Amino acid sequence: MQPPLKPIVYSKILQRVEDQAYLLKPMNCPFHILMYKSKTRSYRDLPIRWAELGTVYRYERSGVLHGMLRVRGFTQDDAHIFCRPDQLEEEILEVLDLAEFMLTTFGYTEYEIELSVRDPEAKEKYIGDDAVWEQAEAALVRALEQKGWSYSRQEGEAKFYGPAIDIKILDALGRGWQGPTIQVDFNEPERFDVTYIGEDGEEHRAVMIHRTVLGAMERFVGGLIEHYAGAFPAWLAPVQVVVIPIADAQIPYAHRVAERLLREDFRVEVDDRNERVGYKIREAEVQKVPYMLVVGKREVADGTVSVRKRGEGDIGQMSSEEFCKRLRAEVELKAL
Ligand SMILES: [Zn+2]
Repeated sequence: MQPPLKPIVYSKILQRVEDQAYLLKPMNCPFHILMYKSKTRSYRDLPIRWAELGTVYRYERSGVLHGMLRVRGFTQDDAHIFCRPDQLEEEILEVLDLAEFMLTTFGYTEYEIELSVRDPEAKEKYIGDDAVWEQAEAALVRALEQKGWSYSRQEGEAKFYGPAIDIKILDALGRGWQGPTIQVDFNEPERFDVTYIGEDGEEHRAVMIHRTVLGAMERFVGGLIEHYAGAFPAWLAPVQVVVIPIADAQIPYAHRVAERLLREDFRVEVDDRNERVGYKIREAEVQKVPYMLVVGKREVADGTVSVRKRGEGDIGQMSSEEFCKRLRAEVELKAL
C-alpha cells in the first residue's frame, strides 16, 4: 500500500465534488506503479514500458509564471520503464536513441549532456544498495559511451534516489533549454514495494526509469517558437499555405485550390479579404507562412497556382497537383 499523503498537504488541495475526492495530480509515476502492481510480474515480463501524455500541476508563484515557459498545469511526454538491473543499460540506450531522434527531427542538433552521480565520499546520503548504484552508474556511462556522446560527470549531483542523465538542448541562438531527462529511481520501487519474481523464484526489487523526452509540451513549444523565431518548417507550421486571389473573380477558384489541399490534410487558409495583393503577401510573410499560392486570371485559365516560398520568393507556376506533391514530400521528410 502507498503511504497516505501528509494531512496538511491533503487538506489544502482536496476538493469534494458529488462526494468524490479530487486532487490535483502532481506526477504520473504512482499511477503507473499501481498498474504495475495490479498483478505479479515475472522477470520474463520485463522490461515494461508505459508512456503517457500526462497532465500534471505545480504551484508556481504568480510572479514566476511566464508565458508558455512556466505554467501551473502542463502536459508531459512521460514514461516509466520497469526493468531488472541487468536491463538498465539497454533501456537507457534506447531512451537516448529516442531522445536523439526526437531532437534532431525538431531541428536541435546541439546538446550538452550531464551525468549526475553520487558523491563517492558520502554514500550514506543515498538510498539503495551500493552494488545497484554501481551497476546503475556504470550502465549510464556505458550507454553514453555507446552513443559516442561527450558528457560532463557531476559527482554529488545525483538525487538521493538514483543517478540521472540530463540533456540540455541549445537553440539557434545558443541558449540552453532543459531537454530530455532520464532518471533512474531506487526509491519509489522501495517505497511502493515494486517487485518481480526472478528466475530463482524469489522476489526481487525492480528498477524504475522515469523519462521525458520533450518534457512539458507547453515549454517545448515555447522553446520551438524561439528556436525558429516563428518561421516553422512546413511540417510544423500551424498554417502551411495561404491562397491569395488577385481579384474577387478568382475567389471561387482560390477556394477550390484550398479544398484540394485540405483533402490531403494540409493546413490552408484563403485570404479573400478585400485588400491589395501586395498587402496580403506582406502579411503572410510577416506571419511566416511557408507557402503562398497567388491566383489571378492566368492561373485560373491554366488551372495552375503561382507559388511563393518563404525566404525564396516566387518559385514559379505549377499545377495544384504538382504543388501538393511537392508539399507532401517536404512534410513527409519533416524537412527543416
Ligand atoms: Zn516519474
